[in-house]
Amino acid sequence: MNVFNGGSDPGLAWEELERRVETCAACELHACRKKTVFGQGNRTSPLVFIGEGPGAEEDEQGIAFVGRAGKLLSSILQSVGIDRDDVFITNVVKCRPPENRTPLAKEMMACNEFLEAQLALLRPRIVVCLGNTPVKWLLKTSEGISSLRGRWFPWRGILLFPMFHPSYLLRNDSRKKGSPKDLTWQDINALKDRLSTIRQGGE
Ligand code: SF4
Repeated sequence: MNVFNGGSDPGLAWEELERRVETCAACELHACRKKTVFGQGNRTSPLVFIGEGPGAEEDEQGIAFVGRAGKLLSSILQSVGIDRDDVFITNVVKCRPPENRTPLAKEMMACNEFLEAQLALLRPRIVVCLGNTPVKWLLKTSEGISSLRGRWFPWRGILLFPMFHPSYLLRNDSRKKGSPKDLTWQDINALKDRLSTIRQGGE
């Protein structure tokens, strides 16, 4: 598939895509951003994480998931032996919404071509949606993350797996059975198992 003039050269396609995001003014979020946040990580990974949008730290640095929530995501991954540099991490919108509000549908729509192009280049086996916004956007559902998390959804020939957003876990510190942290522990283990099966050629 040709993506943004990259032709058959994925390196060129990535470069062109990054350049397009950096200079994008397709929605109003461009006016208040400091930096665009393209996403980063292993571009050949079978595993891609999609969050909602950049926060303050990400906006400063231009890197996805570097704030407190990002650090927690790194620990969650590390707890099951997944290095965050081994996966690709991005967001539905590439510019920070003011006051960290939820991106508007028109903003997600405007930014969607970039997410679609990333997914076309990455060709992951599993897409993990972190929180309500990405799962509702990709699955086109009104169901919330609490009922969707931990379930495997066949999606475009691959698997989509919703989990709580780490910022939600920061606001809900309990580790009691059934708490968001406890459920996330179950989810990350299920994810690790599925990933191992895929890597062993079992799916
Ligand atoms: Fe462009 Fe996406 Fe940023 Fe809107 S959020 S200005 S569509 S890169």
